[in-house]
Amino acid sequence: VSRFEGITMAPPDPILGVTESFRADKDEKKLNLGVGAYRTEELQPYVLQVVKKAENLMLERGENKEYLPIEGLAAFNKATADLLLGADNPLVKQEKVATVQGLSGTGSLRLAAALIERYFPGAKVLISSPTWGNHKNIFNDAKVPWSEYRYYDPKTVGLDFDGMIADIKAAPGGSFILLHGCAHNPTGIDPTLEQWEKIADVIQEKNHIPFFDVAYQGFASGSLDADASSVRLFAARGMELFVAQSYSKNLGLYAERIGAINVVCSSSDTAVRVKSQLKRLARPMYSNPPVHGARIVANIVGDPVLFSEWKGEMELMAGRIKDVRKRLYDNLSGKDKSGKDWSFILRQIGMFSFTGLTKAQSENMTNKWHIYMTKDGRISLAGLSLAKCEYLADAIVDSYH
Ligand code: PLP
Repeated sequence: VSRFEGITMAPPDPILGVTESFRADKDEKKLNLGVGAYRTEELQPYVLQVVKKAENLMLERGENKEYLPIEGLAAFNKATADLLLGADNPLVKQEKVATVQGLSGTGSLRLAAALIERYFPGAKVLISSPTWGNHKNIFNDAKVPWSEYRYYDPKTVGLDFDGMIADIKAAPGGSFILLHGCAHNPTGIDPTLEQWEKIADVIQEKNHIPFFDVAYQGFASGSLDADASSVRLFAARGMELFVAQSYSKNLGLYAERIGAINVVCSSSDTAVRVKSQLKRLARPMYSNPPVHGARIVANIVGDPVLFSEWKGEMELMAGRIKDVRKRLYDNLSGKDKSGKDWSFILRQIGMFSFTGLTKAQSENMTNKWHIYMTKDGRISLAGLSLAKCEYLADAIVDSYH
């Protein structure tokens, strides 16, 4: 008998498990709209041209494979903070930002969670309802208590702004408020700039600490600066805040695991201490981060020609998703004779669309139509082609009614 009898079978991951089921399906009509990964119109994975160029440069230079310092590649850390806050941001110049390279968005969130657990015992993190499925796992595993604030209003298929503000107000002072910097996952609904100002007001009033998760910078609007405006608005108020960044989506570096945790502090002295503790947490967890993705980002952001090429490719990706969104909306409006208003699809931004399909309806999408999606009704438009919009619309209309 095994010593491991007590280890029970873990449930499949609600997002990555969808891809596993998709792979097992032999039907040729099958469509994977589960994971948020960009595909071409031919539904193939896409490596950005600018990434290939940066990799070629690295090969030519014959870079070595020495360990990085615990905090990661210095050129990457500078590039990533500049990209987030703007290169001319006084906070960067005054060295008030503690930046540590992380294992993409997830690892960066996890490192910040460990810092919260160690230095803010008992403090709660408030997360939006709904949110990206992994947020809860991250804080659970880091032993950081969390609760939810209202975000999505099914009646308007929009933001429950009053509910959000009320819940942030009601949280114990000094809580961490997790905010999606742009392209909220899974709803695709972001606050307006005026609403961000009001959110910042309440957070300041309550002495809370904003904690931004920025996984889609450039992917929401196509503009890196516009997508960082929420974070910059908070930072410009002199607030101390956390920002986790990911290059999985905007540079298509999913498997390279490249991202960062930034802690904006009120002084450079604080930033030095915070950084030292982030390093102390990272060392026994994974020692130091991988170099390949960090060099790619540093090369692209640090070179004006490659940087502008990247912006062009990002606009292409964001543009393709917008085209697909429009086509899906047209098909749904044409096919659904019930009079339902589908325009919310056009108002949502980023990679995803939150369809409002229930769990049972989402299961019908998979079981009858071979369309794989998360059970919360979210579909990834990045995994959809113009050619498949009609089929998807048929499936959605069938599943709804
Ligand atoms: N945060 C949000 C909201 C996400 O949607 C994702 C990816 O789907 C991530 C963070 C982190 O992804 P990664 O760890 O691949 O950077």
